[in-house]
Amino acid sequence: MTALTSLTLAEAREGLAKKSFTSLELTNAHLKAMEEARALNAFVLETPDQARAMAREADSRIIKGDGGPLAGIPLGIKDLFATKGVRTTACSKILGDFVPTYESTVTAQLWRDGAVMLGKLNNDEFAMGSSNETSCFGPVANPWRREGSNTTLVPGGSSGGSASAVAALLCMGATATDTGGSIRQPAAFTATVGIKPTYGRCSRWGIVAFASSLDQAGPIARSVRDAALLLRSMAGHDPKDTTSVDTPVPDYEAAVGKSVKGMKIGIPREYRLDGMPAEIEKLWSEGAAWLKAAGAELVEVSLPHTKYALPAYYIVAPAEASSNLARYDGVRYGLRVPGGSISDMYENTRAAGFGAEVRRRVMIGTYVLSAGYYDAYYLRAQKVRTLIKRDFEELFAKGINAILTPATPSAAFGVGEKGGGDPVEMYLNDIFTVTVNMAGLPGIAVPAGKDAQGLPLALQLIGKPFDEETLFSLGEVIEQAAGRFTPERWW
Ligand code: GLN
Repeated sequence: MTALTSLTLAEAREGLAKKSFTSLELTNAHLKAMEEARALNAFVLETPDQARAMAREADSRIIKGDGGPLAGIPLGIKDLFATKGVRTTACSKILGDFVPTYESTVTAQLWRDGAVMLGKLNNDEFAMGSSNETSCFGPVANPWRREGSNTTLVPGGSSGGSASAVAALLCMGATATDTGGSIRQPAAFTATVGIKPTYGRCSRWGIVAFASSLDQAGPIARSVRDAALLLRSMAGHDPKDTTSVDTPVPDYEAAVGKSVKGMKIGIPREYRLDGMPAEIEKLWSEGAAWLKAAGAELVEVSLPHTKYALPAYYIVAPAEASSNLARYDGVRYGLRVPGGSISDMYENTRAAGFGAEVRRRVMIGTYVLSAGYYDAYYLRAQKVRTLIKRDFEELFAKGINAILTPATPSAAFGVGEKGGGDPVEMYLNDIFTVTVNMAGLPGIAVPAGKDAQGLPLALQLIGKPFDEETLFSLGEVIEQAAGRFTPERWW
């Protein structure tokens, strides 16, 4: 049975179609793996009954020949996606035992296509974080460890549960969201593939909002092909999200394995940071060499406003968060802490319900939006955002097809190792990923090698708006050259 969990999604799809096994068998194998891996704390809620019912339903659809593209495939769902009748908390105490009466569009589309829900995955509280340590359910363990060490490492964040569960073979793929790197950074820390599609490609309806102009859903999977398969089901126009774009969803899988000959790939010099580990430098040039060997042309390019991206992001994102989180007031959702007056009740609830990082963001956000500071901070950050976007547009206008960068400035770090004294230390982890959200572009993280301690490292490819296909083609070249990596089981 264990072997079933190590199949890729594409392989499982084939096995199901050939009736080599049933979805119920595949689902049971994953439920067992989840039970054995509770030490990872990747799932915050297991839904075995629902999973088995969905698997049986998929099996009968497969027999009838109308299974759908993801028929019988067991998936994990980040706890930021509203799931009808199933507790959804954004890993915040303030949502308590909130049970939505509706299903997010993205998950509804996965179920439409036959996928099976195994449970809800851990994440940083309201997706604010880069290590999954801000979750009210506690940190998630990365299935990867440094060679010869049993220090628990973070899986990255905010989609830490998604990345850990996919890497540890607990589910065949997972949903995730990315506001400043939350799909790509955890994918990089766990040797999984994560794609943040173009802003507007997936509906945000039914996803707990963090920073609405930056948030995008996307998949984390074990191969580029699997990510392509999942994105096809997750993407699409939704009238319930006015920022979702009405363009047809291509067959992303067809782009996997397509030639990249003649493509122009930009290497941005501003991403070469002072003090960047030599291993990251090496990985980056190796990646460039692989793409070159596949027929692409590598061009040094400049994205001059890169250095302002992180400070601007940490103004725009908290500003939007402070406004989005105003709705958690003890009246409508989850937690309520009584007080003498209604404003006491609001204050008591918010003080008790939000964790420290969320409170910090709400305060920063309120501050940068307040009269007198709005122009100096928020408006200026918005202008910087336009300049960042323009940098990319100019490169694409010159014929650059995609941009290659490292995904993260380091490999996974230990639980409690970063950000304790200074939150900026943690924010610096997003240095290569936030520009992509600021510009609304698609970005993919693909495992590309390991560091000296045996930890996975990844490269990022950034594409033109709605050109995820090019990212899948280029990502496949990297995956073919680097191979796939699986952690050794210790849990
Ligand atoms: N780490 C970033 C933050 O804390 C990004 C998180 C995300 O993409 N959701 O804001």
